[in-house]
Amino acid sequence: MKILPVPCLRDNYAYLLICEQSGHTAVVDPSEAAPVIKAFEAEQKKFPDLQLTAILNTHHHADHTGGNAELCEQFPDLKVYGHASDKGRITAQNVMLEDGDSLSVGELTGKAIFNPGHTTGAVSYAFEDALFTGDTLFGGGCGRVFEGTTLQMYESLNHVIGSFPDQTRIFFGHEYTVNNLRFALVVEPDNPQVRMRSQRAVALRGAGKATTPSTLAEERLTNPFLRCAEPAVIESIRRHDPQRGPHPSEVFRVLRAWKDKF
Ligand SMILES: [Zn+2]
Repeated sequence: MKILPVPCLRDNYAYLLICEQSGHTAVVDPSEAAPVIKAFEAEQKKFPDLQLTAILNTHHHADHTGGNAELCEQFPDLKVYGHASDKGRITAQNVMLEDGDSLSVGELTGKAIFNPGHTTGAVSYAFEDALFTGDTLFGGGCGRVFEGTTLQMYESLNHVIGSFPDQTRIFFGHEYTVNNLRFALVVEPDNPQVRMRSQRAVALRGAGKATTPSTLAEERLTNPFLRCAEPAVIESIRRHDPQRGPHPSEVFRVLRAWKDKF
């Protein structure tokens, strides 16, 4: 398995997911076709057996599906995956997934993980140790809650994605890490892990490099949205909403509202 990030638009990432045995290749969230085709063809020059066989969409937003139509024109046999409830919202979708459905890219077998909140049809894709999280989990942060409820988003992040092992590599949909960690540092100014990660992210971006992928272990140590039961996070949000309830999902709700205005 080989994964190549493809920067798209201003700060999106599409990913090429390559089965090195068969040459079958899927693209996760093609925001636009041109950079994806360019990256695919560059790889195909090195490995002539590569063939683009699938699009995996994490959700329906245009900056994740904008390349679908053009890719399907150029590669007419593409399978286009998305959650069943996104039928009609994802261009050219022809495979309707439910939670836990398996899918394959050549010899690679993956699984659709339903994680609503950012949208009602959001899914992540799990392949071996890689998880493509779209706009649900970001480096150091999470997506806005557009269609679902904050409770759904809390559960998707902390229970659904949260059930994956520490070493899971997180391939997220946007390069927001530096800004997310700026917020994380305001929430937890005394957390040395957040400070170190923030410095690493700034250095990477300064060198023109991507911060994707992270690991779930790293997110658990530094991402406030996965740290809603931590005393330092609870203390920090107390000042923002003294009325909130005791459940960690309430901490999450206050954090998300705070970040929306950050
Ligand atoms: Zn989105």
